[in-house]
Amino acid sequence: ICHKIAPLHRPSLIVKPVFRRPNRVVRMDSSERPSRRHKDKIVVVMGATGCGKSKLSIDLATRFQYSEIINSDKMQVYKGLDVTTNKISIHERLGVDHHLLGVFDPEDGEVSPSKFRLTAGLAISDIVSRQRLPLIVGGSNSFIHALVVDRFNPGIDVFDESLNNAVSTQLRYNCCFLWVDVSLPVLCDYLCERVDEMLDSGMFEELSEFYRSGNSASQPGIGKAIGVPEFDQYFKKYPPGTGGGGAWDSVRRGAYEEAVREIKENTCQLAKRQLGKIMKLKGAGWDLQRVDATEAFRVAMEVAPPSFDNKKKKKRKKKKKRWIEVWERDVLEPSMKIVNRFLEE
Ligand code: ATP
Repeated sequence: ICHKIAPLHRPSLIVKPVFRRPNRVVRMDSSERPSRRHKDKIVVVMGATGCGKSKLSIDLATRFQYSEIINSDKMQVYKGLDVTTNKISIHERLGVDHHLLGVFDPEDGEVSPSKFRLTAGLAISDIVSRQRLPLIVGGSNSFIHALVVDRFNPGIDVFDESLNNAVSTQLRYNCCFLWVDVSLPVLCDYLCERVDEMLDSGMFEELSEFYRSGNSASQPGIGKAIGVPEFDQYFKKYPPGTGGGGAWDSVRRGAYEEAVREIKENTCQLAKRQLGKIMKLKGAGWDLQRVDATEAFRVAMEVAPPSFDNKKKKKRKKKKKRWIEVWERDVLEPSMKIVNRFLEE
């Protein structure tokens, strides 16, 4: 699936806001509570891995300045492996409050959908009680499902292919579902490049440290993060911290490259599975509002690496500008319209 090997130095997906709205108190009907049928309003940003959910959530939160983000990626809830699980950096958060991001100690065991429902539910109550808007952002559809349905049954995997009609449409929140979609072949090309960029940013060193500290793929929860099982064989053969830091022979390089190939393959497979789950939720009647980021991704991948050559610099700047224009036209503006409409309902 992946043709591109060399990392591209594309612009970060996070851009500074181009305009800001004045602070405004979201209409939560809080004065009318506790009317029995009142439901708190939440915005849920969904989509497969790598499709720009974090960028969109920051773009939205810097426009709707009374928002706070709750992470719904099942690997990013844990402390550690920040590069491997692709957590948004403090710098990229632009000061927006984030909840359930890197807070659970992997030593305390796996965060189940039930636990997520409970803790994210408390975070929503807290955010809403402060008259602010919760943005739920992350690719784990099982977490999103567990969080928002009225009655959650932990014993049923609603995404099990053999089960029909298992997804409930009775929700305990008033939800605005934004689905960021990118055509799968374009997304897979992007994901392969992203893996190279993550390796450039220290993913391998982070995984080495993880193994060196006695962790492995058998660790519940974070041990399943893509990157950990794929490097398992490699680290069994070349344990980090045992003086194997010298020149790499071709066998070692081959083992490394095989792990990287598997990471790319598994990341694309994950995106495909996540898309299947989103289609299942949509098919069951969840009102998912799709925004198409495919063109924005195509343009982003055309942005050349930084260069000292003036001509190349100019070309890169032009492409970056184009990329921001397309993102705003195709993704941000439609999303803002959808959220505005939802808040005014
Ligand atoms: P499943 O029921 O398959 O766990 P889900 O909807 O609950 O699906 P997903 O977010 O699709 O959760 O995660 C499925 C798997 O994908 C995880 O167990 C993990 O292997 C991998 N994964 C998900 N998010 C990340 C991430 N941020 N970094 C690395 N791997 C991830």
